[in-house]
Amino acid sequence: MKYVEKILKDNLNNQNTFFVFPSELVAVFWMRKSLDYGIDSVLSRRFLSWDKFKEKTFSLNMDISPVNAHIRTLFASSIIEENKKNGNLLKGLIRPEHSSGSSAFLSRLTSILTDVKSFKENSDLKDISLDPGVRDDLDFLYNTYTEFLTEREMFEPSWVKPEITDIGENYFLFFPEVIEDYKEFAADLEKSAVVKIILSNTKDLHEIKHFESSTLELKSLLGNIGALLDSGVSSQDIAITLPDMDGWRIDLESEADLRSIPLDFRQGKNLSEYPGARLFRDILNCEKSGFSLSAMKQILLNNSIPWKEKETAIELFQFGVKHHCFKNYRLKGREIDVWEDSLAKSEESRLIRYYKDLKSAISKIANGKTFNEIKISVQLFISIFLDTNLWPLETLKEFQICLDTLNDLKDASVKVGSLEYGSGCNIWLSAIEDRIYVKRSATVGVNVFPYRVAGGWGGLWHFIPGLSQTSGSVIKSKYQFLKDNQRDNLPGLDIDFTESFINLYNLSGENVIFSYSSNSFSGPALPPSSFVLKRVVSDMIDVLSELDDEYVSEIGYWAGENPLPGRIFSLMKKGVDFTLASAFIGKKTDYTKTGINQYKIKNNLLENLLDKNKYLSISPSSLDQFLACPYYFLFNRGFKVSEGEYKEVYIDHPVFGQVIHECFDRFFKYVDKSGSEFSKSRLEEYKTEIGSIINKVFNRYIVKGEAFIPPVWNYCREFTHNKLLNFIDIEAVQFPGFRLASAEKKYSHKWDDKKIELTGRIDRVSFKGNKTAIIDYKKKNHLKKGDMVAGENGPATFQIPFYIYLVEKSGFKVSSASYYDVTECRYNYVHNFDPILKKDKPWCSEDDISSLIYKMEKSIDKMDKRIRMGDFTVHPDGCDSCDFRRICRTKFHVR
Ligand code: SF4
Repeated sequence: MKYVEKILKDNLNNQNTFFVFPSELVAVFWMRKSLDYGIDSVLSRRFLSWDKFKEKTFSLNMDISPVNAHIRTLFASSIIEENKKNGNLLKGLIRPEHSSGSSAFLSRLTSILTDVKSFKENSDLKDISLDPGVRDDLDFLYNTYTEFLTEREMFEPSWVKPEITDIGENYFLFFPEVIEDYKEFAADLEKSAVVKIILSNTKDLHEIKHFESSTLELKSLLGNIGALLDSGVSSQDIAITLPDMDGWRIDLESEADLRSIPLDFRQGKNLSEYPGARLFRDILNCEKSGFSLSAMKQILLNNSIPWKEKETAIELFQFGVKHHCFKNYRLKGREIDVWEDSLAKSEESRLIRYYKDLKSAISKIANGKTFNEIKISVQLFISIFLDTNLWPLETLKEFQICLDTLNDLKDASVKVGSLEYGSGCNIWLSAIEDRIYVKRSATVGVNVFPYRVAGGWGGLWHFIPGLSQTSGSVIKSKYQFLKDNQRDNLPGLDIDFTESFINLYNLSGENVIFSYSSNSFSGPALPPSSFVLKRVVSDMIDVLSELDDEYVSEIGYWAGENPLPGRIFSLMKKGVDFTLASAFIGKKTDYTKTGINQYKIKNNLLENLLDKNKYLSISPSSLDQFLACPYYFLFNRGFKVSEGEYKEVYIDHPVFGQVIHECFDRFFKYVDKSGSEFSKSRLEEYKTEIGSIINKVFNRYIVKGEAFIPPVWNYCREFTHNKLLNFIDIEAVQFPGFRLASAEKKYSHKWDDKKIELTGRIDRVSFKGNKTAIIDYKKKNHLKKGDMVAGENGPATFQIPFYIYLVEKSGFKVSSASYYDVTECRYNYVHNFDPILKKDKPWCSEDDISSLIYKMEKSIDKMDKRIRMGDFTVHPDGCDSCDFRRICRTKFHVR
């Protein structure tokens, strides 16, 4: 870039000389650089980008006003609306069968408007064959758009050739060969006496390094940059250009972070990808999806949305999960609002108000007739629901740009006058979607540019990794609506800038380092052909040994292979900080390892667990839980902590289980009341009755507002009906003539000497003569015979021995105890004196049951002692993990 420097040095003192570069970024670079050439100040306006130069020098001499992108969008949207109504206004660009969903074509149709005139006037294109209907559609668009412009006294700037109006000063125009639209202006500029065109000087092409994989290439890149920074080179003198930004960005960011290399990505993203803009898409998704649970989750639980009433927002979502408010829908022309119905049934007046206000505010935005109405509704929504002071400045800025876009659309709509363009809100979202926004970086680091923008940059070190034949290809295409086979034989539609950019990048920096990998982050890759033709591809074999990457050498140090690296990375510093704050700090009390000695905590805990007479109540589930993990028991039952429910499920299995239990309960109470024993001769009557019981129970849940969504609820009802009809036949074989002793009854027994009360709610106890049967219903039984072995860790559950113990303490001798598996329609006997069928052989013998009960008593005794002592320590071998893993961190320690 010596010749650029020379031109600047020679002309800086001439205030009438201006310097034009292909991009704003490169213009700013050279403006700053010029201060190194012995001048104190320079006028920034003397360094221009090509776009600014065009604005200043060329203009469209028209008395009427130009359309802008928003006006084009409104026009295209009006065509789409008409096409929706008409059904076959367009036949090729949008096929008639897609007319109802034609909003998806808005961007495509808008982009055609700028090209349609030159396409019509291009004689080479008159005879090419297009898909049926496309040529008619293009004619229609051209005619309608022309009419639209004429009526409103407007013109389409891309249809008119700009003319030189002001070129009073001297200009140096650098590197026009990479400017896409330069050719349109070249004739005028090249004959001007005051414009000097400076092409990129040809120079031998630098070599391109060939790596085996992008992972090695990345390590080499960061190793080199790390070494440069360590040697004192400023981060501002180093730049990275990424031809394959998508493939490289994530890996580059994370690897640079590990090595403490600051990066400053100078790439814009669609505005809608930033939190301050995503909010609008998310709230409007609620309206579009009928306030579906998943869309509501997206906004109500989103921590980046500054809700004024955060707690209420979370409560509303939890209500929706509990009451299965999947989405509002229409039935026979009537809107069914599942949220409002369920909230009304639960009499949650505060939540009803909040939901109604939220729904109304969102609906007003979504259905605003004009952009002004939408704007007012947005402001109202914000003032009612959000506290924007809680937003970081950057997010606020993104949010403000969305509002500015809405304002621009409002102005555009005034200009177009009467035009039916459909949903203003959709147009607004689409404009947000299309807008590119570059976030300002809070840190100063090595600049990382997307390909093309930094062509002409002149700093000290410029790295261009991942430059392959594909990623380095720059082709500008006209008439993108044409298909590849239609473009193939038409010259001039594609202009290839690939070579021009490689030539320019070859000069863009005092040290330019090109590289590529045959196995790139985006798949197999070849080097650009110019490097191959000039034989300047150099293989980087055994690259790791060449690397001066201290991060790699630190890993080697810990592996005992290298000396300690000379440089400390921030990651290492962080590691030391963490170690100081954890491993080296005196341990705080850890109840997974030591007992609770603090009087206050222990006292509060025992208050929660003991009754007023200081009895500890123990049920089969609390015993099982304590044995599985005392620490879990401490949090769940002692401190009453549980995890919030945020998952949307179609079938809430605990609720479904309750419903099935209630059906069994009511059925056996009916049998008991109507004839006292289960009689084989009354099976038909039982089957009719069970149908009516099931209907009553399922309807009761609907009235309570706890039913699942209708199709799922109907499926559950049918499932229960089929399974319980089967059950009646099975019951007739297994327990004929048995009477109900109790259903869903709580049994209890006290050990007064130890102040322990054993309790258990047993699904059913039936008896016949001196036989007593215990039955526990399971929707699906996952237990097996092996789970009942009283081994070193006890059985998987003490439930059945516990129930046998309780029933026998109440005066009955238990002859059988079983699980009834509703899904499989079968009894699983844990204990059975006298099996009716051979296949019903029990899992446990009489002795097994005695030994299980003995073990249970010992375990209860131990559990009681440990709880009263405050001992909730966990076995050092770890556990199977649970919801409290982050609190106890035992799993973490074990790992
Ligand atoms: S993670 Fe393990 S030790 Fe910790 S509470 Fe859960 S089950 Fe117990």
